Amino acid sequence: MPNLTLARGEDGIAVITWDMPGRSMNVMNDASLGEFAAAVDGALSDSETEGVVVTSGKPAFIAGADLEWLEALMASGETEDMRIRSLFDRFMDLHHLFRRIETAKKPFVAAINGTALGGGFEICLACHRRIATEDPRALLGLPEAKVGLFPGIGGTQRYLRMLGALEALPLLLEGTYLSPAQALARGLVDEVAPTAELVARAKDWIRAAPAEALVKPWDKPGFIIPGADPRTLAGVQAFSAANAMQRAKTYGNYPALDAIQSVVYRGMLVPIDTALRIETEAFVRLTLDPRARNMVRTQFINLQQANKLARRPAAVARKRFSRIDVLGAGLMGSGIAHVAARAGIDVVLLDVNAEAAERGLDHIRRQQQTAVDRGRIPEAEARAIVARVQPVADYERLAGAELVIEAVFENREVKAEVTRRAEAVLRSEAVFASNTSTLPITGLAQASARPERFIGLHFFSPVERMPLVEIIRGERTGEEALAWSMDFVRQIGKTPIVVNDSRGFYTSRVFGTYTREAVLMLAEGVRPALIENGGKSAGMPMAPLALSDEVAISLIHQVAVQTAKDLGDKYRPTAADRLIAEMVERQNRPGRRAGKGFYDYPADGPKRLWPGLSGLAPEAATQPSLDDVKTRYLAIQALEAARCLEENVVTDPADADVGALLGWGFAPWTGGPLSYIDMLGTGPFVELCDRLAQQHGARFLPNPMLRDLARRGAAIYSERRTAA
Ligand code: NAD
Repeated sequence: MPNLTLARGEDGIAVITWDMPGRSMNVMNDASLGEFAAAVDGALSDSETEGVVVTSGKPAFIAGADLEWLEALMASGETEDMRIRSLFDRFMDLHHLFRRIETAKKPFVAAINGTALGGGFEICLACHRRIATEDPRALLGLPEAKVGLFPGIGGTQRYLRMLGALEALPLLLEGTYLSPAQALARGLVDEVAPTAELVARAKDWIRAAPAEALVKPWDKPGFIIPGADPRTLAGVQAFSAANAMQRAKTYGNYPALDAIQSVVYRGMLVPIDTALRIETEAFVRLTLDPRARNMVRTQFINLQQANKLARRPAAVARKRFSRIDVLGAGLMGSGIAHVAARAGIDVVLLDVNAEAAERGLDHIRRQQQTAVDRGRIPEAEARAIVARVQPVADYERLAGAELVIEAVFENREVKAEVTRRAEAVLRSEAVFASNTSTLPITGLAQASARPERFIGLHFFSPVERMPLVEIIRGERTGEEALAWSMDFVRQIGKTPIVVNDSRGFYTSRVFGTYTREAVLMLAEGVRPALIENGGKSAGMPMAPLALSDEVAISLIHQVAVQTAKDLGDKYRPTAADRLIAEMVERQNRPGRRAGKGFYDYPADGPKRLWPGLSGLAPEAATQPSLDDVKTRYLAIQALEAARCLEENVVTDPADADVGALLGWGFAPWTGGPLSYIDMLGTGPFVELCDRLAQQHGARFLPNPMLRDLARRGAAIYSERRTAA
């Protein structure tokens, strides 16, 4: 079955239609690009073809490069030199193909009937005209930077030449998605139209295409790139400012971003064909950088695997829910009800009384109203979403439920009571899930009469925005409860990772080491500003003390107290526990919501570190370097993730890394905590941890699994993958 078709009509206009069999989206790989090249060259050499329309037979145009193909290309060839050569040749071939389109004497028009991203949009940029669907849901743009790469088939150079460096750079650096209307406003598409009219409009344009429109501005003599000229002082200043701004945000952790700036700058000084060569050289160099490779592996390949439910029990039939029930209409319960309703699922939302349940519905109503006000959703659709949620206070209303998610107070007794009351009316096959953030599932399941249908579904706040759900198997959780839970998570468009029961599960357990390390540093007398900067320069999305304030210091304290109670004599309080207790119990600084935590939150200005911190722990005479602080944060989290792998809390490194990036934003440039260990090498990582253990304590001592891998010179990923 071909991936695309070429059909020439009576009018002499050929239509190339991408429609890859067996896939929901068209992607660029060896097979599809080979056929595209043959179709383009066929149309060019056919004297009866007057012009060409490129379009797609699927709802989306082309989703971009098939990153599995790209990953295979990156790994092909026996030596690094061979890899470099083969990648370089492959991309130069694509440049030549796109240049044949661009410099053809026959008009090429992209009829962009839906989402066109990355390489898919780069094809469009090479055409003489772009006519896009007016559907606001179509996404256009070059998002490669989001997965650690940059556009490698001319995107950097065509954006630059169409928009000028200062407009192109932010779009390239942030990998911005544009709606068709936004792309039109920027001149990246020439026309928008109803989807059904695109091909006809493209043909109309071809019939009347002026010869002048077949020569791109940059192929005309005397072309000057719009905007700042790097040969002038103003241009140099603008570039330096953009560079400084980007570094301030990313701390130089992302090689793709440096490469984008470099190819844009150098591309300005040379003609397009030389510029494309520069782009390819930089692209090939980037693909050899382990940071870029790790980002692609986690953010794309393994994320896709997780979304395809690679670890779902295969024997259980797929489940689609038309209704779910949520207990507790507070912050989390109403968020869960909201995302389910948005996915077209009816929701029964129960709380202690009608007013409390109604408050949960109000939350949903308000959010939908904001979406309507911002033009993101038609009013009728918003009303339909709100109407799917039924606020109730009566447990009888749960009868007939297939999946119940409880999000009541984080208290064992309250949770046990709602479990019993719900189960009294539930059908025997209903799955009961707890959204607890800290209480082990096996323990909570003791309140259940059918622990094989009891499971943890750990959502993150705010539910509407956070993409991950951590699914926790209790000791007795059965396969069907697991499979149904995974199906539900996908049905609401989120990514599941499956973990085994453990205190803090996987995400909270590892994430907790980040903020704890910061508090330990505070207790050692490390300067608070250094503690905060170290976190940000490590690539964490928020500085650790600021984050503790957001989470609430009082909550961190409460979890520590509960853990101490649960573990009894086995619990060893740390300097961090003492400092946290001091903050909450004696200093009365519970966190952001109270306006008092590690920071002060003045009404008339930005937050600032609380000066009283120096009274809690006097500043040490010698301070660590920024790099030392950064390394401590990354190492302690990576080590805890490795312990989770050894203890079977997570069973696959891919889940650990995907969960870390999506769950708490662990330094994305590393590809995740376990990819970080592999990037350093297990040997050097173990040495680093031994040194840190000597300096800072036994919590840094590497676990046996890591020592064993290090001794054998093996990597985590090559040893511990259980699924492709
Ligand atoms: P919340 O206080 O906002 O909401 C709890 C709701 O449960 C309230 O509306 C309360 O009236 C209701 N409730 C209490 N007892 C009930 C009962 N017997 N029957 C029915 N409803 C009852 O709390 P939250 O932040 O939404 O947290 C809920 C759960 O989610 C907790 O287990 C928490 O640990 C977990 N969680 C919270 C977060 C977070 O960031 N807030 C993140 C992940 C998980």
